[in-house]
Amino acid sequence: MSKIVIIGAGGVGRVTAYKCAENADVFTEIVLASRTKSKCESIAADIKEDLGVTIKTDQVDADHVDQIVALFKKHQPKLVINVALPYQDLAIMDACLLTGVNYLDTANYEPIDEAKFEYSWQWAYKERFEKAGLLAILGCGFDPGVTGVYTAYAAKHYFDEMHYLDIVDCNGGDHGKAFATNFNPEINIREITQNGRYWKNGQWVETKPFEFRQDLKYPNIGERASYLLFHEELESIVKNFPTLKQARFWMTFGQEYLTHLRVIQNIGMASIEPVMYEGREIVPLQFLKAVLPDPGSLGENYEGETSIGCRIRGIKDGKEVTYYIYNNCPHQQAYNETRAQGVSYTTGVPAMTGAYMFLTGEWGGTGVKNTEEFNPDPFLKKVAEAGLPWHEVHNQDLEMKYYD
Ligand code: NDP
Repeated sequence: MSKIVIIGAGGVGRVTAYKCAENADVFTEIVLASRTKSKCESIAADIKEDLGVTIKTDQVDADHVDQIVALFKKHQPKLVINVALPYQDLAIMDACLLTGVNYLDTANYEPIDEAKFEYSWQWAYKERFEKAGLLAILGCGFDPGVTGVYTAYAAKHYFDEMHYLDIVDCNGGDHGKAFATNFNPEINIREITQNGRYWKNGQWVETKPFEFRQDLKYPNIGERASYLLFHEELESIVKNFPTLKQARFWMTFGQEYLTHLRVIQNIGMASIEPVMYEGREIVPLQFLKAVLPDPGSLGENYEGETSIGCRIRGIKDGKEVTYYIYNNCPHQQAYNETRAQGVSYTTGVPAMTGAYMFLTGEWGGTGVKNTEEFNPDPFLKKVAEAGLPWHEVHNQDLEMKYYD
């Protein structure tokens, strides 16, 4: 018997709830709670119609520890899957410690008034989770999440030493809108407009946004302009795999997207500094979020697919080897199964899989851990069964330019 609470009823919350409901033998009781209860109810009604499974719903404002504590006391879950926004991570972790609930999320903590994401805040909970005999699994979406598992799988099976890692993230889909983001617009725009960073020879090298570009070929999609960004899993992966000399993250952006983004920035709409508007303070980026398409609504006409993977170079038995492991996920498949688009799907399926690993005892221990610290084999088996199969390419040209 394993009760879970899912917090957050956006695109990712929808997919997570669907996938947990599909595995009702392990997730015997599912509660979906969020700030707006009607969104939970609508997802629950779809799950009932599509899968015949009943899930419970509830309301919580997860900015307030006391409300989360009351939610956990009412439902007594073994684990909470946090797929609200990164701003809520610490409040939910605090509530877990107060009530003895294990924790899993898909994005690391960010303070709302500073566009800065790093693991230090959550890693600082390690001893407290250990003392409480609880486990917190951090960053268990696709990237971060599956990318960490792919890296751990490569290290376990194919390398004596990994030297170069490039995580490559392509959304080869078309949603038919002039401009929309694939997950929460506020979080997404904050992430990509920051300076980038990559790991090289033991230190971080800072880059300007969109300073480095490579045109990379993605399986079944073709060539796409890919830009170097900082992404949170780099921080934990270089710590857990110290043989890496270089670790970078690349994401594709189309010209149309970049033009819109430039205008949004130039006119100040990407700012998180509050401005006065008709007698009240508003944050331009939050207002922009309110007028952009809801990422959860993009699914129906979304064509094409995503392709995310790890390209790794290193040494095995004294020889230089290369390895590319990736998943391609068609947006339509995601929509047909869960009424959500591919980016929500590729996040929600791994979140369910991480929770499944924990509840079935495949992933255990106490403290605060990132996905690459666990056994990758059972996770990859389950994530493929759940809808995200993976593919491998050995010893082919990885196409990556190295700057040393
Ligand atoms: P959405 O904005 O679509 O959904 C967020 C949900 O969280 C909404 O239901 C929202 O409620 C709810 N929420 C926000 N604030 C609170 C609060 N204070 N208390 C309770 N609920 C709250 O986002 P997505 O579903 O697209 O993304 C969810 C998470 O997944 C984000 O943290 C995102 O960073 C992460 N993510 C991770 C990826 C990965 O690969 N690792 C990739 C994509 C996303 P309301 O409707 O009332 O606003």
